[in-house]
Amino acid sequence: MELNKEKITLIADCEVTDKSKTAGGAVVRTSKFCADISECDFEGSCFVQTNLCATFKRSDMSGDYFEEVNLSGAGFERSDMSGDYFEEVNLSGAAFERSSICGAAFEEVNLSGAVFTDGDLSGVEISGCKLDGMTIDGLDVRELIEFYKKNHKENCDMKKNVRKAVIAGNWKMNKTRPEAKALLEELKGKVSDPGCEVIACVPFTNLETAVEATKGTPIKVGAQNCHFEKSGAFTGEISADMLVEMGVEYVVLGHSERRQYFGETDETVNKRTRAALAAGLKPIVCVGELLWERECNITEEVIARQIKLDFYGVSAEELKKCIIAYEPVWAIGTGKTATADQAEEVCAFIRATLAKLYGDDTAEAVTIQYGGSMNAGNAEELLSKANVDGGLIGGASLKAGDFNTIIEAATKG
Ligand code: PEP
Repeated sequence: MELNKEKITLIADCEVTDKSKTAGGAVVRTSKFCADISECDFEGSCFVQTNLCATFKRSDMSGDYFEEVNLSGAGFERSDMSGDYFEEVNLSGAAFERSSICGAAFEEVNLSGAVFTDGDLSGVEISGCKLDGMTIDGLDVRELIEFYKKNHKENCDMKKNVRKAVIAGNWKMNKTRPEAKALLEELKGKVSDPGCEVIACVPFTNLETAVEATKGTPIKVGAQNCHFEKSGAFTGEISADMLVEMGVEYVVLGHSERRQYFGETDETVNKRTRAALAAGLKPIVCVGELLWERECNITEEVIARQIKLDFYGVSAEELKKCIIAYEPVWAIGTGKTATADQAEEVCAFIRATLAKLYGDDTAEAVTIQYGGSMNAGNAEELLSKANVDGGLIGGASLKAGDFNTIIEAATKG
């Protein structure tokens, strides 16, 4: 940006409370503006590393340059800020009522909670900005919104394309051995070159049949549980090593039916997850809130708790081998599906929680599925969401045609 050298006033390392110092073309460095600086001329000024949490009502701030500036909570009512450039600025909670900001550019700016009312935002460009809770009211923001939507979507699609889409069938306690064989034969006929990973999680008694029937096909086999001890006096249980020995690759852990009917807790899910990883299995760990928990508005607390506990002691490298299935308990086997937006909201929250625990790169690499009455009719919409990378499917996985339609939807999504 060009500065008018004739007009330059240098304001450095000081606290500005006196309006007379604020002539247009100022270069302001490491200073603090703490007063009411209304009706001032700042045209063509340059602010660097400055604290500007002041009130700038009816001021001319057009053509200004802001770098590493703190403007949080600042008020710009009826000001002219057109053509401004903001880089790495904190504008959270700033208010821009009836201001003209047309043609301004925001780069890596924190705009969360900023309020833009009744002004002109046309031609504004934003990139890499934090926008949560930003309010835009009564403004001409068509170009801004289009720009944001395009960038946001491209960004999400790119990240989604890096992840593996996985469609897994959870057969639960269904199918005898001959029935399992027949279903897999039918499925094999339909699934020859899927655009996603396909897994059949079958009852223990069908594992051998399934491994045999799917040899040389893209269909992988998973179990529905495993114990956390390697061996010992645990009547009725199966160890992770026993599954590996049979050729099983995946294992569902912490399914809500196991938590509900068989006393599974986050502690035992955590132990099983670590044992499965140690044995070389890829866990599909299920998390999800009860209907009552959703109604009490604590879905995020419940999910965050499950993620923290279920993956306690799991390293970033191990986490990348896991799949997380978001399965709202109220949607499993009930025919009540979460809306695509509800599924996306929680899957995105899971990814954000992983990012806090493991960093962005690991979080972006993890496959997160949605499960809960996903079927041939609703799969495409659910799977089109940016953070829904696949599905864990119960009822609809028992019909080869329906399951294949979901596999095809995952390829499109
Ligand atoms: C499941 O068992 O994980 C599941 C999601 O079941 P359904 O698709 O039948 O709701």
